[in-house]
Amino acid sequence: MLDALFRPRSVAIVGASNNPLSIGHIVMQNLLDHDFKGPIYPVNPKSPYIKSFKAYASVSEIPGEVDLVNISIKNTIVPYVLEDCGKKGVKFAIVHTAGFKEVGEEGLALEKQIVEIAHKYGMRIYGPNSQGIQNSDPEVSVYANFTFVPMSPGNISIVAQSGGVGETLKLHLYNIGKGIRMYSSFGNEADVSMNEIIDYYGQDEETKVIMVHIETLKDPAGFLEVASRVTPKKPILALKTGRTSEGAVAVASHTGSLMEQDTLTDAIFEKSGVLRFHSQEDMIDAAIGFSNQPVPKGDKVVIVTNTGGPAIIAVDEAMSAGLKLAKLSPKTKKILSELVFKEAIISNPVDVVATAGPEQYGGTVEALLDDPNIDSVLLVFVTAPFVDCEGIARKLGELGKTSKKPIVCQVMTIEKWENVIRLIRDGGVPVYDFAETAARTLSAMTEYGKVSARKAPTYKKYKSDKKKAKSIVKKYKGKGKFIPQDDVFDLLSCYGIPAVKTVRITKESELKNAAKRIGFPCVLKVDAETIVHKSDAGGVALNLKSEASLLTAFKKMAKKFQKDKPAFILQEYMKGGKEVIVGIMGNEGLAPTMMFGLGGVFVETMKDVMFRLAPLSSESAYDMIESIKGYPVLKGVRGEKSVDIDKLAEILIRLSQLGSDLAEIGEMDINPILAFEKGKGAVVVDARIKIV
Ligand code: ADP
Ligand code: MG
Repeated sequence: MLDALFRPRSVAIVGASNNPLSIGHIVMQNLLDHDFKGPIYPVNPKSPYIKSFKAYASVSEIPGEVDLVNISIKNTIVPYVLEDCGKKGVKFAIVHTAGFKEVGEEGLALEKQIVEIAHKYGMRIYGPNSQGIQNSDPEVSVYANFTFVPMSPGNISIVAQSGGVGETLKLHLYNIGKGIRMYSSFGNEADVSMNEIIDYYGQDEETKVIMVHIETLKDPAGFLEVASRVTPKKPILALKTGRTSEGAVAVASHTGSLMEQDTLTDAIFEKSGVLRFHSQEDMIDAAIGFSNQPVPKGDKVVIVTNTGGPAIIAVDEAMSAGLKLAKLSPKTKKILSELVFKEAIISNPVDVVATAGPEQYGGTVEALLDDPNIDSVLLVFVTAPFVDCEGIARKLGELGKTSKKPIVCQVMTIEKWENVIRLIRDGGVPVYDFAETAARTLSAMTEYGKVSARKAPTYKKYKSDKKKAKSIVKKYKGKGKFIPQDDVFDLLSCYGIPAVKTVRITKESELKNAAKRIGFPCVLKVDAETIVHKSDAGGVALNLKSEASLLTAFKKMAKKFQKDKPAFILQEYMKGGKEVIVGIMGNEGLAPTMMFGLGGVFVETMKDVMFRLAPLSSESAYDMIESIKGYPVLKGVRGEKSVDIDKLAEILIRLSQLGSDLAEIGEMDINPILAFEKGKGAVVVDARIKIV
């Protein structure tokens, strides 16, 4: 519970001073400027008074109870102050002071020490190296932060790993006259975590939308859990930066090399319903939309304009952002035809033309809001000097107040009509400078509409021989190696994953017997840890029709790969079937990432793959398959029959179960699975597993 942090009844400031350039002074001034509702206790052993407040020599000398302490003194003194705070019964200590983990080993040791001291007394540390917190709730009005942007009440809450990014977001909202609810920039995250803060915002009734800035996800599993709980209630918008700075892991599988460094973040966000943004601007524009407007029920947008060109831009942007143009109902068309001027265009976009006054423009929007074919409304509005623009704005504002569908607006105007913008914004309708921004905002809101309407996923659990699977894996644990093919296929069979009939041999004398078991036509492949792509190296001979051709192929391969000391595998030759790839990448402390895509030898050139975090629900298994670009190929083109999609989904789920059960799986490529016609199943013909 973070109540004593975000809703403290009293605040002490260790390091408060009369020097206006000190952090302690600034924090105190911020608390005063924003009328903090509880007592403020400056702590300074050298001055009896700070800003005409009585100062205390130490926290323990403060007469009343202290919920929160802000600390901005030298790093090496922090432990002593914390001991004192602990004895006093302080609940949270915001440590602004830097010089901890971020400066290296010594700092890290000091950081661990201060957390230990705090926990000894049941106290929590926020920071160190942190900016602080704010809560604009008029009941508390706490600005325990050393920055400068004035705070006013609103419903957007911000949590930022970087104080600078947090400040940028806060500043923009302030500049457009919008308040915030809560704010925090948590610094080194030694104790109070970003996940706890998101959870707290999630439970705060007044917070309507949460903006998060992340550099590194310290606890991805915790984030997944918290975000999954919050997003059905309210949107979480996230900006994850430092996309290219994360160290690349050395990988040897297709799955590994196809994973961008940021794929895991995307998979975590997708599973937990977090909306990802790639710029501060896009995120904040969307937040403004969410803050005032209802969430659309579907993706059909109508665009209304009184000037041509920008509406075309709005259409382009809306389409590329995944929205669809709504078709107006006959009833709406009829109403509009009686309402607008004869030059107007009644389709989508609706062009009411520049001469439209409040009756025409406002009336049009009103009729469109009533149309069941429409989920959201994008307005383009230029203040034409020859019409009653304020009248239009007043009408739009009124509609914004009562509408159950979101309305966003591009307004083109100058200062003399600033009333126009105010009237529209007063109705909760966000006003942007560009139609593109309005379109992207609606798209994000529509995306969230889908998240909030998600049904609880269905998880199937297939019977498996987990015990046997564990015993296979155990043999290789800790070696970081790809394992022999017979164990690979055994492992797959533990989870009921269909594979082509396969026999592994180590010498020529076993060849004849193996061929008898497999039959003809057959396939011969080399099997050695050192050979990654067998066919590239000449280690795959397909469609061998007789004992003689098998023997020739064997002799050739045995000679070629002599130095690799290889084993060989014989397989039934499977005719037809489309090739798909499924992959697994292990994640430390988290379920693995699953991959699905079109397979075979072109995987890395086509890169047509999807990633999801395990465990896969039935819905996400089908979604992965349907989301690749090559899905139509699987569904069958030009009269071809579809492949067995149900079987592929089942294999994906079974593999996700295998990956979730066996944390030792570092990387796994199944490439290809041959997928046959609907009803005829699919089989694995090649798989590689690396155990770590
Ligand atoms: P690698 O990926 O190491 O080159 P594979 O075992 O995947 O080796 O074989 C390469 C290609 O040969 C496959 O993509 C597939 O087209 C074909 N192939 C492999 N095994 C069989 C089989 N049992 N039946 C039919 N085709 C196969
Ligand atoms: Mg292969």
